[in-house]
Amino acid sequence: MPLNRHKSQDLFKDAKEILPGGVNSPVRAFGAVGGEPLFIERAEGPYLYDADGNRYIDYIGSWGPAIIGHAHPEVVSAVSDVMSKGFSFGAPTEIETKLAQKIRQLVPSMEMMRFVSSGTEACMSALRLARGFTGRNKLIKYNGCYHGHADMLLVKAGSGVATLGIPGSPGVPEGATHDTLVAPFNDLAATEALLNENKEQVAAIIIEPIAGNANFIRPSQEFIQGLRKLCDEHQTLLIFDEVMTGFRVHLNCAQGLFGVKPDLSTFGKVIGGGMPIGVYGGRRDVMNKVAPAGPVYQAGTLSGNPLAVTCGMKTLELLENKYSFTELSNRTNRLAVGLRDAARKNGVTLSSDSEGGMFGFAFSEAMPKNFDDAKAANIEAFNHFFAAMIDEGVYLAPSAYEAGFVSTTHSDDDIDATIEAAAKVFSTMS
Ligand code: PLP
Repeated sequence: MPLNRHKSQDLFKDAKEILPGGVNSPVRAFGAVGGEPLFIERAEGPYLYDADGNRYIDYIGSWGPAIIGHAHPEVVSAVSDVMSKGFSFGAPTEIETKLAQKIRQLVPSMEMMRFVSSGTEACMSALRLARGFTGRNKLIKYNGCYHGHADMLLVKAGSGVATLGIPGSPGVPEGATHDTLVAPFNDLAATEALLNENKEQVAAIIIEPIAGNANFIRPSQEFIQGLRKLCDEHQTLLIFDEVMTGFRVHLNCAQGLFGVKPDLSTFGKVIGGGMPIGVYGGRRDVMNKVAPAGPVYQAGTLSGNPLAVTCGMKTLELLENKYSFTELSNRTNRLAVGLRDAARKNGVTLSSDSEGGMFGFAFSEAMPKNFDDAKAANIEAFNHFFAAMIDEGVYLAPSAYEAGFVSTTHSDDDIDATIEAAAKVFSTMS
């Protein structure tokens, strides 16, 4: 039965009149799945409540940050305390150093770091730094990976760019992407060929260590370790964009999981617990080139904002000390396996995978190994499934190219209810 969404529909009409597409970030518009967005009024733990009062089990988690659920009382209390003292000073605060120390404790490659206000800024700044440090201009990214919306990175990007089916974006001058080279994910030989064709010109390789903006693409161990070796051979910096995977796939992030130490990393999402934040960091000799310690310029009015930093700090502390990452992983895995089994029982072809609190599924025989595989899955089946799941009270990412997220507040009952709802939908699909 379709849910009553009259208020959301009315709110969307008003929003479209003043906000392009009615939203402030494209994927939110549900355009790719042929629907209209839900307007959210509040959220608590694993649940979202829309303007019509419908409740949904949330697997988007604000696109990743909500790893300990929404509006965690201890986080709310910590942020409220700080808020009462002022929101932003444009001057250093102790808590910024504390959050940096916490990040370094969990991710030792982050010897030094700089906070910014979004994942886009973190990636953009890390690449400027890599270029400034090496004196080289070119960079290599992977087809289907998304690193934010900076000009030089809007080439064969995943996430909303892939969802809208556009290769890049009008408004990005050719010059801005001239030095951006693109390789297929999981293809070490293609990467090596690019490095050889552009000897001593490639400043950095940037990669999502698990590509969550092109569904859920796991790197082979040979590929991810091979990148480290290639970067060493070519004196190219290896940058892990852990904006999505950071503190999401493992408490020590993807680099801890795979045992690969990048030169620089970027984070966002979880480290702000739902407030705007990003950070880039890594090797001390490289980070010491950032202004004012060095000549590579980068700045931000709201960088290290006390509310965002406090929200992130409390989130990481709770994640580390109060919850079990193993339990989160097991629960997420149970969801991924449960979805796949329910589909197959109903004659629907589906594959799935998960790591930590992140999962993906594809209407195809096997999980994608690169972006072409992701695009070859049955996207129409996904769109149907997505819409039907909304009516069952389950809120999945509105795109076949986005990963899903489970929080420590999702209970076994939530997972069971989700699998049951999916089974019901699959039974109408074969
Ligand atoms: N990098 C990755 C891997 C992301 O998933 C995202 C956003 O989804 C970004 C960078 C950009 O982060 P933001 O949206 O905070 O600018």
